[in-house]
Amino acid sequence: MKIAFVNIGGSMFTFHNGIAALSAYIKHHSEHEVALIDMIGHPRPLKFQHQVEIIQPDVIAFTAMTIYWPNVRALATRAKQMSSAKTIVGGYHPTFAPEECISHPAMDVICRGEGEEALLAFLNALERGEDYTRIPNLWVKKDGNLYKNDIRPLIANMDELPFWDRDLFNYGSWYDAMPTSLSDLDRPERTVTLAASRGCYYDCTYCSNEPLKAMYGGKTFVRTRSVDHIIKEMKMLKARYNPDLFEFQEELFVAHLDWLEEFADKYKREIGLPFNISYREELARTKNMELLAKAGCNSIAFGVECGSEEYRKKYLTRRMSNRKIEEAFDRTHELGMKALSFNIIGMPFETYDLIQETIQLNRRLQADYLQWFIYQPYPGTILYNICKENDLLLPGYTSSYISLRPGIKLTHITREEFQQCMEDFMALQREQQGYDWLDIAAQSNETLVNVRYATEEERYDIMDLYNQTFQRDHGINRWEWFRRNPEGAEKTPSPSPTGRTSSEPR
Ligand code: SF4
Repeated sequence: MKIAFVNIGGSMFTFHNGIAALSAYIKHHSEHEVALIDMIGHPRPLKFQHQVEIIQPDVIAFTAMTIYWPNVRALATRAKQMSSAKTIVGGYHPTFAPEECISHPAMDVICRGEGEEALLAFLNALERGEDYTRIPNLWVKKDGNLYKNDIRPLIANMDELPFWDRDLFNYGSWYDAMPTSLSDLDRPERTVTLAASRGCYYDCTYCSNEPLKAMYGGKTFVRTRSVDHIIKEMKMLKARYNPDLFEFQEELFVAHLDWLEEFADKYKREIGLPFNISYREELARTKNMELLAKAGCNSIAFGVECGSEEYRKKYLTRRMSNRKIEEAFDRTHELGMKALSFNIIGMPFETYDLIQETIQLNRRLQADYLQWFIYQPYPGTILYNICKENDLLLPGYTSSYISLRPGIKLTHITREEFQQCMEDFMALQREQQGYDWLDIAAQSNETLVNVRYATEEERYDIMDLYNQTFQRDHGINRWEWFRRNPEGAEKTPSPSPTGRTSSEPR
């Protein structure tokens, strides 16, 4: 069997760790051929069609978070028009909106939950001409019937999983040319990403981890690789890619003290490079933080989300106090690490005063990097259901994280007040770090222009796409915005493909 993964990803991330994990698993356990159709930054149907014609896959596999589902639908439709390949989609959106995904005429199969074992079983069954309608995790349309199978148990032993397949992405030929996240624009370019664990202990109402944990019954949801397994991979990555820094991609880095002690000791001795993690404020206890600092941790990303203790507790199920958050940031700084603050505005029933509380809390935190996003409701989450019950949902799905449009109907704040809050947040960003939301959006997309493998034509496509997005989201031509905001232009001086600076109109 030949399977082609389609990497839609969006406009920012070229390496997709979910696809890399699935590809590694399939290659490790079978002789199936694996290919990649890379649609990052330029999701043109013609390019997709061309790739399908070259690869001639038996299976075309998509992965869809909610924001990518519209693109997946469009490409799957194109696939069905020109190929007899089976189409399958996995990821958060089919997991939590399965009826919507499987009912799309261009989709043959959806995969709910963890995909490695289910996808391999599907490919094996197809190759052998066996029945593939009874494979756990899969919903299958066949001969006019729909087969809805149960969820299989999670993979318990993370050490049994092969290392991510980076070769599929030609990793290393481009990774030092673009950031893998927006978390730290000042960090070294040669950043290699990996994960030490899967799952999360917490129940934030806006996050897809909460319903995922509930779907699996909770107990075994968090699984951690052994320290030796991680160190072995990092040694290989260090030798192969010569990074300046590692970044752990899981939403919540490991908290067990025994594990951290072993990791701090072995990592410092055998790897010795700075690394970034994400953490919860409650876990920033003295001992944990000392061990992270000892290991060489460079930065810790914290979700602050909202400045009101009452709102956080009532609507987000985040019960930590503001004092706890401030202590976490102080401790991080005292131990010589950077603290990053991520926030959400535009949540259900949020008022002007509540958002101002978030801004004020961030003023006190003095984060080394401050970012905020506008709330988007994702199917399956508790907060999505609250939005639905209160008629706050807007039609369709947002197509980008980088948007200045409210993701729901705002009922307790006027558009003018909301605009004022965004401007206040950006003013704080400029005050604390010298650049703001718009600079970050521009920087992340402009970096794509430097992607080495892109042809000149593709680079123009990327720029055009970004210009359109900017116009749509901000209601103003991007170059016009730069003309009116010369300070912003100075902060984003990346050369364009023609050698002109980005602040020059084209
Ligand atoms: S701590 Fe982070 S990963 Fe865990 S549920 Fe909350 S938002 Fe999701």
